Amino acid sequence: MTTVAAYAAPAAKAPLERTTIERREVGEFDILIDIKFAGICHSDIHQAREGWGEAIFPMVPGHEIAGVVSEVGSGVTKHKVGDRVGVGCMVDSCRECENCAAGLEQYCLQGNVGTYNALDRNGEPTYGGYAQKVVVDENFVLRVPDGLSLDEAAPLLCAGITTYSPLKHWNAGPGKKVAILGMGGLGHMGVKIAHHLGAEVTVLSQSLRKKDDGLKLGADHYYATSDPQTFKDLRGSFDLILSTVSAPLNLDQFLSLLKTDGAFVNVGAPEEPVSLNLFSVIGGRKTLAGSGIGGIRETQEMLDFCAEHGFGAEIELIRADQINEAYERVLNSDVRYRFVIDTATI
Ligand SMILES: [Zn+2]
Ligand SMILES: [Zn+2]
Repeated sequence: MTTVAAYAAPAAKAPLERTTIERREVGEFDILIDIKFAGICHSDIHQAREGWGEAIFPMVPGHEIAGVVSEVGSGVTKHKVGDRVGVGCMVDSCRECENCAAGLEQYCLQGNVGTYNALDRNGEPTYGGYAQKVVVDENFVLRVPDGLSLDEAAPLLCAGITTYSPLKHWNAGPGKKVAILGMGGLGHMGVKIAHHLGAEVTVLSQSLRKKDDGLKLGADHYYATSDPQTFKDLRGSFDLILSTVSAPLNLDQFLSLLKTDGAFVNVGAPEEPVSLNLFSVIGGRKTLAGSGIGGIRETQEMLDFCAEHGFGAEIELIRADQINEAYERVLNSDVRYRFVIDTATI
């Protein structure tokens, strides 16, 4: 075991504080990563505050990890010491079910092993990226291509793949009208990726406060959802709406913005159940769907796509002692657009 400095929430809703955790020995197929940067995802806050149900404490959040390989097990073939690598939302899965066989480890029928707030296959709790080192099986470690800086790459491991996977699945591309709902950590990546996939991109945000940024990041249009006129102007407009918001929504209102056969896809997850008038999907043969992160193969494809098109996330780099303040700012939508912790400051 190796003792590693980390930031943890000792209990639900408690502020995060500096502590130490134990990482397992580097096994035959394991990789020891010196973490350089860790993004702060909204879901870190949901989990640290038990918004999504009972959680495991102490909790070291963080599933947007970028760093450098410092040691590899004897059987490792995919990465070597000195490689720039990333780890996202999962660190293992059964590897045998039909979803794992299809490269959809995120939907493993036995449940994937989360990077934190989960139990690994030996029943030990997993701890995430707000730490100086992590040990991960080589099959769940991604290569960060040259041309992507590690700090701007970190948020791609959750925010990037969570938006890339549904945009690809629902064929965002040339000739398609795509709306990104919400202009936060996930939303700003959705805008960049949909734009680089060749779609016509519209941002639907509560206000026009971030309009200049949205247009700069690749949006063609920008509308405020607080303005009732938006719903009149855009009725029947979109092939795909990707919702990144985790606040409750009037789904019927948003479904009215889809074309016939359009899809409304949720990647944000409100803490409470939502209600829906099913006529909103019956008229126009519409789809209401959800999507969760992406498989390992697709995550690598996304990193390569971002490197090829020359973009990472828009970030605000912070010190570890600013994490609690950063959480408050995320809850107030006061971040442009992802906080990334410099883990050297832990
Ligand atoms: Zn996340
Ligand atoms: Zn599986």
